[in-house]
Amino acid sequence: MILIKNVNLVDAKGIRGPADVLIGEGRILSLEGGEASLVVDGSGKLLAPGFLDLHAHLREPGEEVKEDLASGLLAAVRGGYTDVVSMPNTRPPVDTPEAVRALKAKALRLGLARLHPGAALTVGQEGERLTQAGGLKEAGAVLLTDDGRTNEDAFILAAGLLQAAPLGLPVAVHAEDASLRRNGVMNDGSLAHRLGLPGNPPEAEAARIARDLEVLRYALRRSKATPRLHVQHLSTRRGVELIREARRAGLPVTAEATPHHLTLTEEALKGFDPIFKVAPPLRAEEDREALLEGLLDGTLTAIATDHAPHTQAEKERDLLRAPFGIPSLEVAFPLLYTELHLKRGFPLPRLVALFTDGPREVLGLKPLHLEEGAEASLVLLDPKEAPVEPARFASKARYSPWAGWVLAGWPVLTLVEGRVVHRVE
Ligand SMILES: [Zn+2]
Repeated sequence: MILIKNVNLVDAKGIRGPADVLIGEGRILSLEGGEASLVVDGSGKLLAPGFLDLHAHLREPGEEVKEDLASGLLAAVRGGYTDVVSMPNTRPPVDTPEAVRALKAKALRLGLARLHPGAALTVGQEGERLTQAGGLKEAGAVLLTDDGRTNEDAFILAAGLLQAAPLGLPVAVHAEDASLRRNGVMNDGSLAHRLGLPGNPPEAEAARIARDLEVLRYALRRSKATPRLHVQHLSTRRGVELIREARRAGLPVTAEATPHHLTLTEEALKGFDPIFKVAPPLRAEEDREALLEGLLDGTLTAIATDHAPHTQAEKERDLLRAPFGIPSLEVAFPLLYTELHLKRGFPLPRLVALFTDGPREVLGLKPLHLEEGAEASLVLLDPKEAPVEPARFASKARYSPWAGWVLAGWPVLTLVEGRVVHRVE
């Protein structure tokens, strides 16, 4: 039994407390205390449901030099995540039930965050032949995606949505028109022109989202079950507008935003530092504002990290040759707690919902609230400020665009079904 004493509670429903949270048998037994072998002082801290990340590149199998399940899932629990969806763009891609089972088994042995593998939509993520959605789901895959690549063939995407629909599996898309983004390394606009760098236009994202929404309409018309489309790492104002309009029209589409698109803009590229190179690229301030509005009005229902670790050497290449990606599992919550909630007044229960109930709903999981009987997958957050220190990351990617930023809201205790998986003494 664990007792977290005198702690304020926050979940999607609101803030309340203080309470004495008694945990045993993997559940919250009481909010009014009781006998326990481990007593944790929760004074001044916040207890929230464990976070779920819909989008992490854990690189195993094949690219363990960048990250592996052990380092990635440890980074996750340090970031307050109890559940992680891994992207299948590994080497080889995760496109068979055997590969999904192997990942799940290994993650289970590690006993850190729970792994929910994403599986490839097409064989080898090559965009030509669909994978076997039924077998993948049976093995434990929770969504299908060719993320890392774009879905250039609209018919294949439609067929994928139709195959996934009766299984209740969402199809997640990296929505960029490859022929329009070409070799862009940063947001296309006056700054890219001034810096002499190839631009990736916001229209590449908007055009692809518009197409994918039509593909979804087509699949919806052809299917008895509801096909579900999830748009990954939304980055543009126009993209937000398209999703908003589609959701208002009742289309079964959801979308996520990343910590980097919510806190950084293209201005960061002024120093030509590849640490800020990511796909889709960091955009203009008006895009960032539009993403925030989308989070507030329910257009966007999830914050997902797109944690994408690379080796230091790869990220130290010049801007044109460095790989795309930013690691963020360990900083995502404190970053947004500080930058959105503390500095801009973004409502805390809404922010927590974007890390919990929003992403859970995408996977068809029930909401998780702090009440008696609820599963004890929880995170204790400390409002004390501390700087981002990449050298201390559990992730193998020990660099960060936010290095040195002073943040509050760091996870100091993470529980998965009542089991301590991370604790700062
Ligand atoms: Zn992507």
